Amino acid sequence: MTPGASTKITYPRGEVAGEAAVVLTDALEGGSGVVVDSTPFHPLDHTWPDQPADTGLLIDGERVLPVVGCLTGAVEHGGGPLYVGEAIPVRRGSAGWHWLAVHVVEEAPPAEGARVTLRVDAERRAALSAGHTGCHLAALALNEALSGRWRKEIGTDALGRPDFDQAAIASSRIRPFGSVDVYRLGKSLRKKGFTTDGLAGELPELAARVTARLAAWTAADAKVWIDVPGPELTARRTWHCALPEGEASIPCGGTHLASTGPLAVASVALALDAAGGELTMTTTVAG
Ligand SMILES: [Zn+2]
Repeated sequence: MTPGASTKITYPRGEVAGEAAVVLTDALEGGSGVVVDSTPFHPLDHTWPDQPADTGLLIDGERVLPVVGCLTGAVEHGGGPLYVGEAIPVRRGSAGWHWLAVHVVEEAPPAEGARVTLRVDAERRAALSAGHTGCHLAALALNEALSGRWRKEIGTDALGRPDFDQAAIASSRIRPFGSVDVYRLGKSLRKKGFTTDGLAGELPELAARVTARLAAWTAADAKVWIDVPGPELTARRTWHCALPEGEASIPCGGTHLASTGPLAVASVALALDAAGGELTMTTTVAG
């Protein structure tokens, strides 16, 4: 069978369960991929793999199949093979392709056309959502802490601070109750006007300032929501947070808490690699 549409996704509004029709199954390394018309499962994004895939259960009549992963897939309009993850030959969201959440099961997949129930591991999802919300807040707080290091005008974040996060981010990894962000402090960043003079010695103070800002933002119990322009997997969604300083927004395909309040304890560590070319921010929250 060929999917007639992109997968509709319900996780941006916090859903962790749903019913769906199986539209396609295919063999994958380590098992089978199952595509349904609508899913609460967050798949790993193959181009910016920041938030890990949801895991959980797929219930097919009497059979309960563990979903051990969820990947991004694509099939060309009109038919053709299912490409998964890094094998997808076109840019994310390209027109002319159906964009699919591909649930990975190790046992025999359900029949195409079957009605199934999907259940995300809600505890793990909540921990990842806490980690992702903390990650965005830490990025905004880091922008503020480093704002005095810019010698030239640069694009600003939604709170009006020079957007170090956007200018320097190399990778971002969300984990349960935390995140690790790696920033590149290379020649191109210095050309944009960022100075690293004395940065190593300042790290403990900067980390303390970022941590204090996070504590203030969690104490404010600011509302968090996701702007969802369409139900498809590749719709351009945006994270918003009503912080005391103003409304922050960051493009984001992940899942989040409904407010900053549950992040009761948060701490941020900053470290430079030996060559001084990479800054790593490790954020830990309690959700
Ligand atoms: Zn995000």
